[in-house]
Amino acid sequence: MSYQSELYQQVILDHNKNPRNFHEITGFSHSCDGYNPLCGDKIRVHMRINEAGTIEDAAFTGSGCAISKASASMMTVHLKGKTVDAARVIFDEFHKMVMGEMEPQAGLHNLGKLTIFHGVREFPSRIKCATLAWHTLICAIDKTGETTME
Ligand code: ZN
Repeated sequence: MSYQSELYQQVILDHNKNPRNFHEITGFSHSCDGYNPLCGDKIRVHMRINEAGTIEDAAFTGSGCAISKASASMMTVHLKGKTVDAARVIFDEFHKMVMGEMEPQAGLHNLGKLTIFHGVREFPSRIKCATLAWHTLICAIDKTGETTME
């Protein structure tokens, strides 16, 4: 196994076992439920966004495969303290990366540790697991209530 994929597995397993921000937020301002019928992943994203548009707190609950949980866990860690506008940009970059439309090594992006997910592109059936939390996040920001990925 390559160093890259070994690191990938370690990070996924760690976040699956000890997901960060895995709870509800009392007094949340935004939330949405996401469902990926291909895999059965169910995720609810909660956020508290202030009037300046900064994500003060982000958390998730639900059940799903290791990739969907790890992705939600890392997403909430990455986005806390960032603005909604920045979150949209990062979602776009993350989506392009896992779809194979952007190379994480290319330099100019805001993905940080999230580049660990670039290996998902090798497994098309798992891409929706990796992006479910992100789609649910955008849904929560736009307050449409529920998102299902087909
Ligand atoms: Zn999944």
